[in-house]
Amino acid sequence: TANLLRGKRGLVMGVANNRSIAWGIAKAAADAGAELAFTYQGDALKKRVEPLAKQLGGHVVGHCDVTDSASIDAVFAEIEKLWGKLDFVVHCIAFSDKDELTGRYVETTEANFTKSLLISCYSFTAVTQRAEKLMTDGGSMLTLTYYGAEKWMPHYNVMGVAKAALESSVQYLAADLGPSKIRVNAISAGPIKTLAASGIGDFRYILRWNEYNSPLRRTVTIEEVGETAVFLVSDMSRGITGEILHVDAGYHVVGMKVPTAPDI
Ligand code: NAD
Repeated sequence: TANLLRGKRGLVMGVANNRSIAWGIAKAAADAGAELAFTYQGDALKKRVEPLAKQLGGHVVGHCDVTDSASIDAVFAEIEKLWGKLDFVVHCIAFSDKDELTGRYVETTEANFTKSLLISCYSFTAVTQRAEKLMTDGGSMLTLTYYGAEKWMPHYNVMGVAKAALESSVQYLAADLGPSKIRVNAISAGPIKTLAASGIGDFRYILRWNEYNSPLRRTVTIEEVGETAVFLVSDMSRGITGEILHVDAGYHVVGMKVPTAPDI
């Protein structure tokens, strides 16, 4: 990926630690020559994000909790001051109350439904609204989704519904922003052990199931998602928008348990 992103400036939202998908993307983007800015959610994560950003020579542009639109505005004002323009945004943000990432979807509460959809779906639109104004030479918006948007998955519940809405919003945003040469895409990543994933019931079972039943017979890494993200925010993918690209070792083509897969 050397030099693929040379001269490009990108905002990375959603680093929590060095296992975050956002961090895998940031590392790959920095390797490809991008200049990066990072947001963090709250003081606890500030302490983690600052040294990570420093490792890549990136800027930390402040706290952003997507449930507080003033904090989104503040971050974009900071980007405008810093760079005056923006080439890409990587949005790796999702949330649901852990108590509802287990058991039956039908039990979802109105409060958690609203909060999950706000954080996991609407925030991408909210961020795109601000980014559009700074993407004066065109740009690339990228978000992260999961196969639980397309098919039922155990325990994924309201997150599956939120991801389905997110994937649909990728298409609507792509249509709106295409004329401004802003592309909007998502990576549908296979399961990876991160902080957010550890909130999902029986996550180890899901990892193991994917390892045994995906065509490549393994799970994927944040580095692999990162390199695909570099492709999607680079000019190499200039003909692609509104796309949901699976980085999941091929799991999404499988309709049934592989007969030779061990029982878990
Ligand atoms: P992670 O815990 O490292 O990252 C989740 C991030 O969301 C954190 O940085 C957290 O601060 C941020 N966040 C949550 N609520 C927020 C709010 N109100 N305001 C601002 N930020 C908020 O976990 P991850 O797995 O790297 O998750 C990144 C993205 O990848 C998510 O959208 C997730 O759904 C998606 N994804 C994850 C997997 C997986 O298996 N890990 C698979 C497919 C998609």
